[in-house]
Amino acid sequence: MNPTHIEHLGIAVVSLNEAIPFFETLLGTKCYSIEEVADQKVRTAFFKIGQTKIELLEPTSPESTIASFIEKNNGRGGIHHIAFAVNGIEEQLASAQEAGIRLIDSKPRKGAEGLDIAFLHPKSTFGVLTELCEKK
Ligand code: ZN
Repeated sequence: MNPTHIEHLGIAVVSLNEAIPFFETLLGTKCYSIEEVADQKVRTAFFKIGQTKIELLEPTSPESTIASFIEKNNGRGGIHHIAFAVNGIEEQLASAQEAGIRLIDSKPRKGAEGLDIAFLHPKSTFGVLTELCEKK
């Protein structure tokens, strides 16, 4: 694979309303976008630091994978995933699979910010939930 940069870090939070002011203070920049991704049962909030974004994820339903992640983390959030920007996401997924990496998404789907995204399975990535994304 050939990621060009870290596109974003995903951080699970219980409440965007509580977390946004903190991250605005920490990062010295305003949240520039809040978006619901119904497909993943989350609301997301974005900050930009250089080329990289911070994506806060708040569950909108108890069935959200973010809700179970928070539950496993003592009811608090934490770093949830790392996302790499790639060119040619379909080819990158194919080469990941060829390299024996288990995929969560065998085909890209639409994520926040209109990106094509796909997740690799943490069992294949030393426990780090890894997302590939491409701006098309
Ligand atoms: Zn993400």
